[in-house]
Amino acid sequence: MKYCKRCLYPDNHALNLIFDDDGVCSGCRVHEEKYQIDWQEKEQELKQLLDYYKQRSDAHYDCVIPVTGVGDDFFVVDLIKNKYGLNPLLVTYNTHFSTKVGIRNLARLITELDCDHMMSTVGPDTVKEITRLTLKKMGDMYWHVLAGSQTFPVQVATKLDIPLIIWGVNGWLDQVGMFSHHDRVEMTKKVRKEHALRGIDAEHLIGGSQKVSVKDLQAFTYPSDEQLEKSRVRGLYVGNYVQWDSQLQIEDMIDRYGYETNQQERTYNCYESIACANNASVHDYIKYLKFGYAKVNDHVARDIRLKRLTREQGLELIRKYLPVKPKALGRFLEWADLTEEQFYQYIDNFRDPRVWERKSTGEWWLKESILDLTLSVSKQALDVLESKEYRQTRLLEPQSFDDEYILLGRTYMDEANYKAKEG
Ligand SMILES: [Zn+2]
Repeated sequence: MKYCKRCLYPDNHALNLIFDDDGVCSGCRVHEEKYQIDWQEKEQELKQLLDYYKQRSDAHYDCVIPVTGVGDDFFVVDLIKNKYGLNPLLVTYNTHFSTKVGIRNLARLITELDCDHMMSTVGPDTVKEITRLTLKKMGDMYWHVLAGSQTFPVQVATKLDIPLIIWGVNGWLDQVGMFSHHDRVEMTKKVRKEHALRGIDAEHLIGGSQKVSVKDLQAFTYPSDEQLEKSRVRGLYVGNYVQWDSQLQIEDMIDRYGYETNQQERTYNCYESIACANNASVHDYIKYLKFGYAKVNDHVARDIRLKRLTREQGLELIRKYLPVKPKALGRFLEWADLTEEQFYQYIDNFRDPRVWERKSTGEWWLKESILDLTLSVSKQALDVLESKEYRQTRLLEPQSFDDEYILLGRTYMDEANYKAKEG
């Protein structure tokens, strides 16, 4: 196993990370572009693009913005609405795993930025059955969230004749460098299927369970080519046009809009993924059980590239968080009506043999792991410019890792009631 000499990413990364002759990964190389690009020119390009959509006379909404209420969403909505003057329609695919802090942040986003909002909530029994099915078929408990959240905005845009969808950052660019900033990648049907859904579309699930029919999969079925052609919906990533720095951007949102942050079980980054009880916990734990790396590696890689962590500090954080079995697992198994044994049986089929091996006793062990890595001197290592702690804000309600999921919460906040639920 090779690890990037700069950011410590492993070369079995599921998104085909490429290493150059210096042992530095494509994610690190694309990150370097951030310091070479003329961002003022890029913003000018974005302004021209947005002006074109703003000037359409027949539109009520200028664009759709998919949100879950996390810090990046505040940044994008604030930029598009307040800086560029567009009238966005916010849309949310309901994960069914909402946390209280997530519900409050979504309500805060809608209230503080005063936007119209639509939500898609799939029937709970259907979501549970799809989750069991994808867990068994592909070792994935999060397919419904990825598919739903990338489909609903496009469905809304085509139905309401809104020709522009604005996404935040493109992870395949920012994190692993599959694309360059100069590629100006946009969100399309192909990108969604190949990268976000790893080639598995809604139709692959038909026949997998008697409880799931074509009709049940509406929320995950992308508009047809004909519909897309007719509506000419375009999906832009803001991250192609602004010098994306999630930590700084979210800290601005904390100061200006009171965005709440929250501790997580499997990473030190308390800004991201906190709207969902499973994104950085059970879903992330599964990634570790399959590939031997997880979100904490992503966060460490990013903070090393931004010169906020040394490799030694990064490795220490990875050791602390990577193997943590989340408390949230119990809640998930109860929700999905699965035993822990079934859960591991499903996941074991998808363990990467490059890192995991089964002992004769039946137990799995990490034969290749960053947890055992000894760092040697690297010419590619970056010096830290400024270390930056993540800020934990005051929580307006107590929140624990095994809390109940909130299916529907309040979508506005007022002085009398800031809670996630009525009462
Ligand atoms: Zn790297």
